[in-house]
Amino acid sequence: MNIKENIKRLQDELSEQVTIVAVSKTHSNETILEAYNAGHKIFGENRVQELLPKYEALPKDIEWHLIGHLQRNKVKYIAPFVSLIHSVDSFRLLREVNKQGERNNRVIHCLLQMHIADEESKFGLSAEELHEILKSPDLANLKNMSIDGLMGMATFTEDMEQVRKEFKGLANIYKDVKATYFANDPQFHILSMGMSGDYRVAVEEGSNLLRIGSLIFGERE
Ligand SMILES: *Cc1c(COP(=O)(O)O)cnc(C)c1O
Repeated sequence: MNIKENIKRLQDELSEQVTIVAVSKTHSNETILEAYNAGHKIFGENRVQELLPKYEALPKDIEWHLIGHLQRNKVKYIAPFVSLIHSVDSFRLLREVNKQGERNNRVIHCLLQMHIADEESKFGLSAEELHEILKSPDLANLKNMSIDGLMGMATFTEDMEQVRKEFKGLANIYKDVKATYFANDPQFHILSMGMSGDYRVAVEEGSNLLRIGSLIFGERE
């Protein structure tokens, strides 16, 4: 497994408009440093407990993204440093992110996670819940968080036509939300969809942020 080559291969294939989050969950600091020393600075973790010691130990110019389900009582631990939370899936969580942003005197950048998979287990908002949040008059008072876009995970299946249908649906919601609620706000600009198994389809359907683990670091144990 040559991490440097894996990243380069992906970058060569993708346009500059597409950003890669290297998903480093389960991998050691040493492994992460290999990617870092090859010039990669954006890493994603799905658990707060795993992210914290990595943040402490690794270079401070790494941009850490939280990509997995986040409990409200854990927000305070990542609030001082997290670059982007991909997985905000309720108004209560958004309010907590804002509160912790306020305490840390910063704006915490977020994506709203949509439920697009044909599976019960995946977290995320329905379109209806999404509009409820975006329509809320309360939203304008949350000055210490910023909604930068949407995130979604497709069904775990080999059936790429189903995956494409789900990504297309999310991309349509993204365009609609951008036009309806963020017409004058360039801050809403991120569509996070696509992992190692489905990133090509995701990019074809308009993704500009990929969360890639095994294609960079190899299969996880
Ligand atoms: C683990 C994970 C990924 C990366 O998965 P790979 O298939 O290894 O690329 C992407 N997104 C989320 C939310 C994850 O938990």
